[in-house]
Amino acid sequence: MAEELIISVSGVRGIVGENLTPSIAADYGSAFGTFVADTCTGEAGGLSVCIGMDSRPSGPMLCAAAAAGLMSVGIDVIQLGVVTTPGVSVMVTHRKCAGGVIITASHNPIRYNGIKLLLGNGMAPPGEVAEQIKQRFLDKKFTFADSVGCGKVTSQADTDDVHVDKVLRIVDRERIAEKRISVVLDSVNGAGGAVTRKLLAKLGCEVYAVNQEPNGLFAHGPEPVAENLGGLCELVKEKDAAVGFAQDPDADRLAVVDENGTYIGEEYTLALAAKYIFSKRTGRAATNLSTSRMIDDVAQKTGNKVIRTPVGEANVAAAMLENDCIIGGEGNGGVIDLRVSGVRDSLVAIALVLQLMTETGKSISQLAGDIGSYYMKKDKFPADKAQAHSILAAAKQLFAEARLDTSDGCRFDFDQGWLHLRASNTEPVVRVIAEAKDRQIAEKYIDAVMNLREKAAG
Ligand code: MG
Repeated sequence: MAEELIISVSGVRGIVGENLTPSIAADYGSAFGTFVADTCTGEAGGLSVCIGMDSRPSGPMLCAAAAAGLMSVGIDVIQLGVVTTPGVSVMVTHRKCAGGVIITASHNPIRYNGIKLLLGNGMAPPGEVAEQIKQRFLDKKFTFADSVGCGKVTSQADTDDVHVDKVLRIVDRERIAEKRISVVLDSVNGAGGAVTRKLLAKLGCEVYAVNQEPNGLFAHGPEPVAENLGGLCELVKEKDAAVGFAQDPDADRLAVVDENGTYIGEEYTLALAAKYIFSKRTGRAATNLSTSRMIDDVAQKTGNKVIRTPVGEANVAAAMLENDCIIGGEGNGGVIDLRVSGVRDSLVAIALVLQLMTETGKSISQLAGDIGSYYMKKDKFPADKAQAHSILAAAKQLFAEARLDTSDGCRFDFDQGWLHLRASNTEPVVRVIAEAKDRQIAEKYIDAVMNLREKAAG
């Protein structure tokens, strides 16, 4: 069965040549441009949007189409070329643009591509704003410019430098550089290679970098999860490196491999970054309801607090702004530091992890050991809206003794762990995530949900 184009809060995603075509990209550009023109009051001289792409071969085609859509409604376009998602965010605020566009399908395989949007603050649009833009796209409500009112196009080549400079400002460059930390970097032939090598060079690291050709021909599964990173783990051992870093194709997510060549899991990326931040400053962190309790443990040890938000990068970033959070992100290896930008940034994560290693003198395995470990289990099952609703209602009765957060499905917090049930935004399934110190306890939570599901079906 042919897959449908997915239009969600985080933009559009589809299969190139099937449902993601240049006309879709142009319409999406026109929809976003019309939204920007209607909602922003620009300086005299007009509004501009910067646009970048990850390394997929379909990037230039979709980028040109989306740029044409933007210009057709009078928006000036700044072409950034092949850059990372956080790089585009940094340039939106650096160039005082009214928004940003990234042509990327993130960690999805090469046949996919997508279009992500950023507002003038460099952040992903919140749900209600994303909905307005989507509606404009579906209704084709575009305000086309006349023959002299079309937007202009320029290009800018310094995204990597601007980005690296901003990241360096949040760490002690000289102190890290003295350590000459040995790093293996795997950028999966995505957009992150060049800019990350630049950052690591400035931090005095000894770098062995693989999969650095930004050609979109992913050398292994592009999601930075254990099953795709066997090669990186081997290399860390072979090169006797202190740490291995793996990025996804648009370089917003980071996974860490310890000095023994062990993949420690993406959940540790945010916990390690928070560990460093909380060792220096007092304040709050924000993360979504499906992220590990490790960050709560890290915060608690230093007398700090974690705010939980609904799933979605925009929700985390909005909570960070609102609560003046000093760190935030998601358990998928996405770290946000608002001093750099309002999106997940693997370069920020790398810099903070290296600073933590430098200041503590500890290895990654020791630092992960200090944080402690949990067992997390994820599952999902098909359910339409009504079925999802009745299973969530039954779960509330079953787990009446737990602390309950209903801001995104149901998250039940127990002394020994937690369970999160939520209907997916993009497919008719309920996602179930449980975490506990003890594997049997996490599995017990999941089994209980599966029993409820059987009863509801039976
Ligand atoms: Mg990504």
